[in-house]
Amino acid sequence: MSYVDEMIERVVAKNPAEPEFHQAVKEVLNSLRPVIEKNEELYRKEALLERLTEPERIVSFRVPWVDDKGQVQVNRGYRVQFSSAIGPYKGGLRFHPSVYQGIIKFLGFEQIFKNALTGLPIGGGKGGSDFDPKGKSDREVMAFCQSFMTELYRHIGADVDVPAGDIGVGGREIGYLYGQYKRITGLYEGVLTGKGLTYGGSLARTEATGYGLVYITDELLKDHNMSLEGKTVVISGSGNVAIYAAEKAQQLGAKVVSMSDSNGYVYDPEGIKLDIVKDIKEKRRGRIKEYAEAVPSAKYTEGKGVWTIPCDIALPCATQNELNLEDAKALKANGCFAVCEGANMPTTQEATDFIQESGMLFLPGKASNAGGVATSALEMTQNSERLSWTFEEVDAKLKGIMANIYTQISRAAKEYGHEGNYVMGANIAAFAKVAEAMTAQGIV
Ligand code: NDP
Repeated sequence: MSYVDEMIERVVAKNPAEPEFHQAVKEVLNSLRPVIEKNEELYRKEALLERLTEPERIVSFRVPWVDDKGQVQVNRGYRVQFSSAIGPYKGGLRFHPSVYQGIIKFLGFEQIFKNALTGLPIGGGKGGSDFDPKGKSDREVMAFCQSFMTELYRHIGADVDVPAGDIGVGGREIGYLYGQYKRITGLYEGVLTGKGLTYGGSLARTEATGYGLVYITDELLKDHNMSLEGKTVVISGSGNVAIYAAEKAQQLGAKVVSMSDSNGYVYDPEGIKLDIVKDIKEKRRGRIKEYAEAVPSAKYTEGKGVWTIPCDIALPCATQNELNLEDAKALKANGCFAVCEGANMPTTQEATDFIQESGMLFLPGKASNAGGVATSALEMTQNSERLSWTFEEVDAKLKGIMANIYTQISRAAKEYGHEGNYVMGANIAAFAKVAEAMTAQGIV
């Protein structure tokens, strides 16, 4: 049996009931076959894949807090410190009821490769909790965040592990987490990214993941002699990534006709009015349904179905496995020619295979959403320098990083005889860097 097949079997057996983690490992290892086969003897001897798929450390902890009725609630918190081969652990915190160890491990594993692609010195980590911030008062969110940090603080640090936001963790949550870290440790340091601008945050961090997604999509289109100008774009989600992807796509001349949340989606053939979405989602923490109540040209549909809307380009920006084979077929049938992932692993394996086999362009999240973590690393640099850069400076660096990622992944795919297969290109380019660093540092 090949080393890759043996490892896939072993990972599934050793990590039972963690299907998302299995899915992420299979996707990466399958596309690394040509690289692994070239060096199979060395990698086997070094147990490189065993080490790569085993987190350096997993912390799981109790998070007790008191709700507004005086009732004590208990959630479970996690931090997975997956790989420090190329830098301190770096990756977001997710607060969502679906969170369990398998989700955090899949995200932490993906993060290793994504971070390597940025070209910046950051390792892979991820964390979170099954806490649901939806419908909670600000005081409840603060109580939860303070309790979460009261355990987490001992495992993180500006040169050790630097968490950031993800689903359910935005500026408000990062603020409460940072305040508690500072209170416990007495340190005013860059231990979290995505901070507010008045206490060490970076300009353009809020926009970075969505903007970065559109910058790299633009690179992809340019490489195929096209542009975003005049293209119709469908976006899922209406959170941080979705909103700023829509904003940049519009700035580059595309028409964004749809956005969604976990309840349903809106279709606005005249183009989404983002100021209204921002007011609903960023200010009032409302539902996307309210958009159709405010905009006469828009129609709201309850449930899944955003991928049935005709478009040229689809940007899934909500959550994992939100675009399945049936959705991919609907997109193709309606003329969509490119799917670029804003979320982490939003496309199922079957859908990814269909998209690639049917000749559509496909950018995997670990490359196309890397702008967020890259800008987080720029926030770390500014914190270390005790300086802040202008929006334009950070944005220009972000654009450069995304262009560089596109070059790396397209070159790696071509080098291994799979031109245009950016999944393969991303995994190969990232793995090369991580594997070299692991080998150089000996058996740790
Ligand atoms: P937000 O919490 O800001 O927004 C998430 C959006 O996705 C919301 O509209 C939410 O709807 C929707 N959503 C979440 N879960 C589900 C679900 N199970 N089914 C349908 N819709 C869902 O998160 P972000 O925008 O930060 O993150 C979105 C994706 O991007 C995630 O996969 C995240 O890992 C990834 N990502 C984020 C980065 C960042 O910088 N923020 C960086 C790189 C990747 P609702 O409000 O109804 O829950």
